[in-house]
Amino acid sequence: MVTIPYGRQDINQDDIDAVIEVLRSDFLTQGPVVPKFEQVVADYCGSQHAVAVNSATSALHIACLALGIGKGDVVWTTPITFVASANCALYCGATVDFVDIDPKTYNLSVKCLAEKLEQADRTGNLPKLVIPVHLCGQPCDMAGIHALSRRYGFRIIEDASHAIGGRYKGEPVGNCRYSDMTVFSFHPVKIITAGEGGMVLTNDAQSAKRLRLLRSHGLTSNLEDMQSRPAEELWNYQQTALGFNYRMTDIHAALGVSQMRRLEEFVTKRHAIAERYGSGLSNLPVITPWQNPDCYSGFHLYVIRLKLGDIDKTHRHVYEALRATSIQVNLHYIPVYRQPYYEQMGFKPGYCPQAERYHIDAISMPMYPGLSVKEQDYVISALRDALWL
Ligand SMILES: *Cc1c(COP(=O)(O)O)cnc(C)c1O
Repeated sequence: MVTIPYGRQDINQDDIDAVIEVLRSDFLTQGPVVPKFEQVVADYCGSQHAVAVNSATSALHIACLALGIGKGDVVWTTPITFVASANCALYCGATVDFVDIDPKTYNLSVKCLAEKLEQADRTGNLPKLVIPVHLCGQPCDMAGIHALSRRYGFRIIEDASHAIGGRYKGEPVGNCRYSDMTVFSFHPVKIITAGEGGMVLTNDAQSAKRLRLLRSHGLTSNLEDMQSRPAEELWNYQQTALGFNYRMTDIHAALGVSQMRRLEEFVTKRHAIAERYGSGLSNLPVITPWQNPDCYSGFHLYVIRLKLGDIDKTHRHVYEALRATSIQVNLHYIPVYRQPYYEQMGFKPGYCPQAERYHIDAISMPMYPGLSVKEQDYVISALRDALWL
């Protein structure tokens, strides 16, 4: 049996042709395909603006900067996420703190958020920004988080790296109805890919302008954005902020545009796989993902929780037994504050109890549109063996 990864891209001839077309064109970067990709995603999601960059990590960084995050500011996120959701605050010189997860959805718990805000309000240490992460593609309780943001005055960036194609209360993730900005990732394991890439969506024109500036060195060649200088000097461009080279190339954008045409097909397939897992695993000592009726998940990941009390196998045993049969299960994620880099900042084990409970029994099963029925059956029977043999 060939290796079955936990996630992988799905590339067809249209994708290949789209990339080749750019390679034969005048612009490999800074051409017309990047704005086209931005338009396609903004239209699909129902946001006013979209700014493409070279990764979601870059997107999170400039999204924080565009909201004015800097030294002395406090940013909160969930511990059960990829490290980039927290690192972005550190890049800006801010400090990070973590809000424990909901034991049912594994997303940032609104109840814990409300309690932590009440306490922070008393001690004068309120966050300037909260970054909810739509884990596995299932949207967070955004209405609840948004209501708290009104009360306590923080900004919101949705880390929707897992969730393009998902819906919240019937509307597409990315419309920013309950947030200042939404970030997507186009890494090959995610729902659609551009090879590497990310995007920031927003309904605020000023923020979009700031994001574009920061994406490309802080340079502008737009006359009305420049500071006035002596008339005899030639200024065809000006640097007005400290930006980066976070640009997406047209080669990557072409793949992104092409993949957007199959976004709904991809998400539908992911749901079909989730449904098959749901029935195939129903008699096993595992907890399958609970779906909030308010949400339609993008199903980037399919995470099961082992009922360790009902079996005599350890988390590590099951994980390693599956890996030994060429099934590349994974763990998404280790609580960010348990990483050595974060422990050295003072975070202690036990800080977020629900997140730590999740860490000791969660496993990501293979989940990608190209996973065949036969492969999935093999995965299910390998899991059964790993749990009992
Ligand atoms: C993948 C991921 C990122 C980073 O995405 P890149 O495009 O690889 O930089 C950020 N946050 C979450 C939750 C992710 O899963």
